[in-house]
Amino acid sequence: MDLNQLWQLTLSEMEVQLSRANFATWLKNSQLIDRKEGVFFVALPNNFVKEWIENNYQKNILGVLRNFDVSAKKLEFIVTNQEPKTLAKKHLEVDFNKIDNQAGLDLARVDPDTNLNPRYTLDSFIVGSSNELAHAAALAIVQEVGTKYNPFFIYGGVGLGKTHLIQAIGNEIKIQYKGKYRPRYVSSEKFTSDVVWGIRNKRMEDMKKRYRDCDVLIIDDIQFIGGKEKTEEEFFHTFNTLYEGNKQIIISSDRPPQSIPTLEERLRSRFDGGLTADIGYPEYEMRVAIIKNRLQVANRQLSIQVIDLIANSIKRNVRELEGVLNKILFYQERKGIEVDKKTAEEIIEKSTQNFLGRISDDQILKAVADFYNVGIPDLVGRSRKKETVEPRQVAMYLLRDILRMSYPYIGEKLGRDHTTVIHSYEKINQEVNKNSPFNQKIIMIKESLHNKG
Ligand code: ADP
Ligand code: MG
Repeated sequence: MDLNQLWQLTLSEMEVQLSRANFATWLKNSQLIDRKEGVFFVALPNNFVKEWIENNYQKNILGVLRNFDVSAKKLEFIVTNQEPKTLAKKHLEVDFNKIDNQAGLDLARVDPDTNLNPRYTLDSFIVGSSNELAHAAALAIVQEVGTKYNPFFIYGGVGLGKTHLIQAIGNEIKIQYKGKYRPRYVSSEKFTSDVVWGIRNKRMEDMKKRYRDCDVLIIDDIQFIGGKEKTEEEFFHTFNTLYEGNKQIIISSDRPPQSIPTLEERLRSRFDGGLTADIGYPEYEMRVAIIKNRLQVANRQLSIQVIDLIANSIKRNVRELEGVLNKILFYQERKGIEVDKKTAEEIIEKSTQNFLGRISDDQILKAVADFYNVGIPDLVGRSRKKETVEPRQVAMYLLRDILRMSYPYIGEKLGRDHTTVIHSYEKINQEVNKNSPFNQKIIMIKESLHNKG
């Protein structure tokens, strides 16, 4: 396997492990450029990123890389000021179409004008009951750019297709209207860093112009803007200018506007004024359709038993579903034999273990305690205080959900008998499956765990 393929696989695994923001900030612009005697050389855009990765993710990345190439002993990070695209061309002769087929990340195909990745299309977006409304809204916006459904706010958990859908709207508008409308996609981290750049270099006017000078502004993961005063202020003004000029605004978030705690009221009420849609967990048929679609695009085959197994093992994250599928295909290619159900089971088992294997029960308790702002003794003690009921139930749920601990063991850990644990687990599980705002809390706690991993 060449370096680039190897890195794509490693990144797609890391993308599942880290939060979206962390992944985008630290790893998106990395490139594996060489390997010598077990040392793997990774190019990074600047020293800041290098230091951060060395301190936080080095071990993790090496561990993941080793799953794909056992010869990996050590990572060396090198700072290069070159764009990853030129780097890749120079050193690797990468066939980007090939990578695209692997459904991995395609860093270099982003359109510099719009910042959109052409891989995200409405055609390749599979529709089911969990995203029907969001998809219908997307189609409507393409027909009525800027007028009827403005702003469009889409929310849902990690890896459920938000970025795909909002970028697809941009791509579709660009193609259908042949340049009449200029879309621009931006992550909220990028928006924030542009504001910071504008302030620092006294170039706010340039920065403003850039964002107000488009017809469709697409902002991804708006929750990361919340609480950053200057950025929010700037976003608010940009928003108003565009809105008043009948420009289309499209926003995504991991939770509904009213649940972004630090978002200023005036901004929130603007979002409420437009069209809001959520994306939930994909149902079984949709998961199968996504797998089949990927296989078709990549011109690969898997038995119906294996497809069924994948679809039944990963239910709540399309990105993870794709990650597992990639691994199975990779294995099949390397061994040159058809993967049977048992082997697929092992691969899935291993990759879901990788995903959460480093997390301990105490880390889970701490994450829950931190999230709810209670002490660990409140969780494990006999306290019957009302404020601790929910955190304790959530802790029980997560111990079971993540670590597969037995009910009696969890009971012992939290000083409750096992029937209470079963009851709590089932109660929370029901909430989670309803995809209610409550579920967003669970997602946030899990994310905080991954960030530490
Ligand atoms: P989010 O932004 O919600 O975290 P993404 O849009 O990045 O999720 O989706 C994760 C991966 O799953 C992407 O590769 C995307 O193409 C794929 N995906 C998600 N939903 C669908 C869908 N309905 N049809 C096809 N692919 C999907
Ligand atoms: Mg996204």
